[in-house]
Amino acid sequence: MTARVLVVDDIQLNVKVLEAKLSAEYFEVITALNGEEAIAAVNEQHPDIVLLDVMMPGMDGFEVCERIRANPNTTHIPIVMVTALSEAAERVRGLEAGADDFLTKPVDDTALFTRVRTLVRLKTMMDELRLREETSTQLGVSGAAAVDGEDFSNSKVLVVDDDSSDSKLIEEALSSYCGVTVEPDAEKAVELAHSGEFDLAVVSLIQRDADGLRLCSQLRSAEETRQMSLLALAPKEDNALLVRALDLGVNDYLAKPIDRNELRARVRTQLRRKIYQDKLRRNYQDRMVMAVTDSLTGLHNRRYLESHLDTAVSRATEGGKPAAILMLDIDHFKAVNDTYGHPIGDEVLVECAKRIQICVRGVDLAVRYGGEEFVVIVPDTTLDIAQIVAERLRASFAGQPFPVSADVGELPVTISIGVAITGAARETGEDLLRRADEALYEAKRTGRNRIVMAEPADGVAPQIPNSA
Ligand code: GH3
Ligand code: MG
Ligand code: MG
Repeated sequence: MTARVLVVDDIQLNVKVLEAKLSAEYFEVITALNGEEAIAAVNEQHPDIVLLDVMMPGMDGFEVCERIRANPNTTHIPIVMVTALSEAAERVRGLEAGADDFLTKPVDDTALFTRVRTLVRLKTMMDELRLREETSTQLGVSGAAAVDGEDFSNSKVLVVDDDSSDSKLIEEALSSYCGVTVEPDAEKAVELAHSGEFDLAVVSLIQRDADGLRLCSQLRSAEETRQMSLLALAPKEDNALLVRALDLGVNDYLAKPIDRNELRARVRTQLRRKIYQDKLRRNYQDRMVMAVTDSLTGLHNRRYLESHLDTAVSRATEGGKPAAILMLDIDHFKAVNDTYGHPIGDEVLVECAKRIQICVRGVDLAVRYGGEEFVVIVPDTTLDIAQIVAERLRASFAGQPFPVSADVGELPVTISIGVAITGAARETGEDLLRRADEALYEAKRTGRNRIVMAEPADGVAPQIPNSA
């Protein structure tokens, strides 16, 4: 993995040392010698991670950190504070300013590379989500993914530690701002976590009867718990254990004995990130649905049909199970608009969609293709069945007038339908649509409120029933 690392330190020698270490591991390094330069570099050169000195004349590391966090375009960039201070109070101040982690000077190589890699990996995932977010915004369906405020009251933390005095301390430290469940038994904890309701697990790596690393790995690999944040608890200075935990995908760690304030700050950071990530993911899913749905009728839209049709057609041709396509068009719909107005026209369209959905099966795909045109794809069918479906549709329109809110109360509405079915000949979705459309045109030409079956593409004798 390669990444662009911004190294910020007011002492040139410190910058050079970190630059040399990182370059040797093939990271791309950019540097800044004070707070202002650091902010400019973050804005202009988009680093994947910032290694930030705390004590600098002028703008110090805390302020740089706060500024990066306050800017929506840079708020997601991971920041590691590199400090000579090992005071818990200073660490807490850094975490509150928005730092993701700390490295103590002189910087230990293992710690440096593991932290950088872990944080960059996380950022890569967030970038992917942000990119999708932008793409959907460009598609015209917007909604910012910013996290509002600092409300963790809906967040849930699972604590897995068989040391009862530690788990008690954790519960007391966290329960004032988020939900906490303590489960000292590792196996039961995994079961509990599978409910998918927890945002974060705080896991002690050293337990009497259980392997904390195994637990972390189980949580990371199972579908239901993969998105959870993991905060590991490890004895102070057990670097080897931490490295393994981080390699397994643990998001953060805290040394025992537990510092209450540092715990609170680290949990807050993880929950903040989880909320942001969930929100992006949810927005993305909502937008995917919106992007393929017709807003007036709730049916799928033409974009969806286009992405789906070729697959459906080739699957039908190759699998030897024909698929039919029905193209429906409301008869003299323009007259409805002209006589009763566009809103009443819309009511008719909504009712059309309802009737279509009632007439088709779950596996059939109903699409609003354009203004007053609809398409239904009927997979795994025969010509006879396709014709029965089409006739059922035609009759459901013609048999019962449409209720409308205009004074007349209801309107007679009919449709014409063109039906085409896949055959032995290799056709694209577009070919099939064109044949259905030609059949529809024929239905219009020969009187409307009727069905016309298209000639098969492979030249087998056509079957032209007349149902109207
Ligand atoms: P034909 O029987 O030949 O299909 O005649 P028609 O009047 O149904 O067909 P035409 O294509 O001339 O008119 C379609 C009309 O559908 C024109 C357009 O204003 C109307 N239309 C398209 N989209 C909408 C919509 O979303 N809402 C409403 N109310 N009308 C729409
Ligand atoms: Mg029409
Ligand atoms: Mg039309």
